[in-house]
Amino acid sequence: MRFPLPQKDSDGNYKTGIMKRLGELINYPKLNDGQVPLKSTLIDYYYKARAGGSFLYFNNERYQVSDTSHPPDFRAREMGVESEYVAVGVEKIVDDVVEPFSRMLINDLEKQVHKGMTAYSLRAYMSFKYIPSVSLELPPMHLATSVINWCETFDNSTGSYDRGLTEAVLESLAFAKAGSEIIGDVEWKCFKGGSHVLIDYMTNYITANGNNDLIKFNKSVTSISQGGEDTMEVSVRGGPSRTYSHVISTIPLPCLRTIDLSGAGLNVMQKNALRKLQYGPSIKVGVRFQSAWWTDRFGIVGGQSFTDLPIRTIVYPSYGVDSASPSTVLIASYCWTNDAERLGALIGTEVHNITYSFLSDQYLDIYAWDWNYDPLTMGAFAYFGPGDFQDLYTALSVPNANKRFHFAGEAISTRHAWVVYEYLLASGQPQTTIEKFFNLWGKNIEWVGPSSWYVDEGRSTEDPNTNTMLRVHMACTYAGETSGEVKF
Ligand SMILES: Cc1cc2nc3c(=O)[nH]c(=O)nc-3n(C[C@H](O)[C@H](O)[C@H](O)COP(=O)(O)OP(=O)(O)OC[C@H]3O[C@@H](n4cnc5c(N)ncnc54)[C@H](O)[C@@H]3O)c2cc1C
Repeated sequence: MRFPLPQKDSDGNYKTGIMKRLGELINYPKLNDGQVPLKSTLIDYYYKARAGGSFLYFNNERYQVSDTSHPPDFRAREMGVESEYVAVGVEKIVDDVVEPFSRMLINDLEKQVHKGMTAYSLRAYMSFKYIPSVSLELPPMHLATSVINWCETFDNSTGSYDRGLTEAVLESLAFAKAGSEIIGDVEWKCFKGGSHVLIDYMTNYITANGNNDLIKFNKSVTSISQGGEDTMEVSVRGGPSRTYSHVISTIPLPCLRTIDLSGAGLNVMQKNALRKLQYGPSIKVGVRFQSAWWTDRFGIVGGQSFTDLPIRTIVYPSYGVDSASPSTVLIASYCWTNDAERLGALIGTEVHNITYSFLSDQYLDIYAWDWNYDPLTMGAFAYFGPGDFQDLYTALSVPNANKRFHFAGEAISTRHAWVVYEYLLASGQPQTTIEKFFNLWGKNIEWVGPSSWYVDEGRSTEDPNTNTMLRVHMACTYAGETSGEVKF
C-alpha cells in the first residue's frame, strides 16, 4: 500500500493535508518508543519511476517514457477522436473537467461552507454539461462519446466514468492535484515490510501490559441488535452474545448486509443505503521473479506502466531499491472496475501461452487476489454511483434508532480506498465532549478552521467556541433527529 502523506514542516510535524491524521498516527510517541520506532519503517514510494522509463502500451503502440521524447497519440484518431482533442491531450481535458470542482470543494473547506454534491456520473457530466475552458481552445460544446471513451481508456479503468462525478473529484484531492494552501504537495511513502507493520505496532501497543483481551481476533459477527434504550447486543459465530454501550462497525458494507441486522434499529434509508451503495472491484496479481529484471534490462526503478491489455497496470516495487537486495516481486497486474471483473475470472486457472522463455526462466511464484470474491470484503472499495453521496451516504452518517450503533470505515469516509483515519462523533454531544474529542484525536481537514459565518460576525478565530463544520453538521443531524425528519 502507498500513502500520499503531506509534507513535514521544519519541526517534523505533518503539514495540513488529506492524510495528515495518518501521518500523526505514524508519529505518535507511543508507537515510536521501542527499539525500532514506527516512523523509521516508513520508506519512499515511487509513484512515478525514480529511474528509467516505464511503459505505455495502447492500441498496439508501445512507448517508453522518456524526458527527451513525447508519447505518440496511440492511434487516437482511429478511436474517433478529432485531432484538436488529441493535441490538447487526455490529462488536460480530464483536469479541466474535475479541477473546478476540486477547487470549489477546497474553497468550501477553507471558508467552511457547504454547497452540496452533484448527482451526475462523470460520463454524463462530460456528455451533457461540461464545456471546455476557453484556454484549451477546443470547440465550446459537450464532449463526444468517442472523446470520453478515449479519456477513460488512458485516465482510468474501464467503466470508471460511470461512477459519480463526486468520486472523481474526491480522488483528485487525495492526489493533491488541485493545489491549495490547505492541501499542499504530498510525499509518497510506504511501510518497509508492508502496511500490516502499522497494524502490528498498534496491536502491540493496545495489548501491552497483559491487555490481550482488548482485541478479539477471528470473531465473525453474525448479528447486531438493540439491547434496550442504551445498549447493543453483538453475536459472533460459535460464541455467546455480548452487550456493549456502543457499537462502531467498520465491517465493509456488503458484508454488513450478510449479518442479521433485523433488530438493529436501522431506518428505511439506512437499509436501502447498505443495499445500494456501490463498491468497486479490484484485483492484484503479484509475481515473484529470480531478479528485478525490469531494472536490469530497462533501468526501471519504481513507478508504473499502463496499458489497454487486460492487465491494465503494472506496479514496480519501491521496496529495497537502494539496498543490496531489491524486491523481485512485481505487481504484474493491478486492475479496477470492469477490468478487474474480467481478469478476476482467470484467477486460479492455468495461464497459457507464456511464450517468453526468459520470463519463464525468471518466474518463481505467483499470487493473485480478487477482493470481489473475498467473503470478508465482497468488493474492494466503495465506489459511489451518481448521487450516492446525496441521500444514501447521508443516511449512514447518522446512528441507528437508539443512537448506539454507528457506521464507520472506508465506505463512510469521503476518501474511499485510502487510509485517512476520518473520525466519527455521534450527534447531540455536549460542547465539552466535542472539545475533549478534538483534544484527544485532533481535527480532520474537513472540520478545521472556523465557519465563515463566525468570522463574518467579527469574532476571533482563536475563540475555543468557534463554530466548526463538524459542529454545524452535528447540530443539523441532531435537529433532524429531534424534529422527526430522520425517521426510525
Ligand atoms: C486492492 C486495494 C488496494 C488499496 N490500496 C491502498 C493504498 O495504496 N493506500 C491506501 O491508503 N489505501 C489503500 N486501500 C484502501 C484501504 O485498504 C482501506 O481504505 C482500509 O483498509 C479501510 O479500512 P477499514 O477498517 O474501513 O476496512 P477494512 O480494512 O476492509 O476492514 C474491515 C474488516 O472487517 C472484517 N469483517 C468482515 N466481515 C466481518 C464479520 N462478519 N465479522 C467481523 N469482522 C468482519 C474484515 O475481515 C476486515 O478485517 C486499498 C484497498 C484495496 C482493496
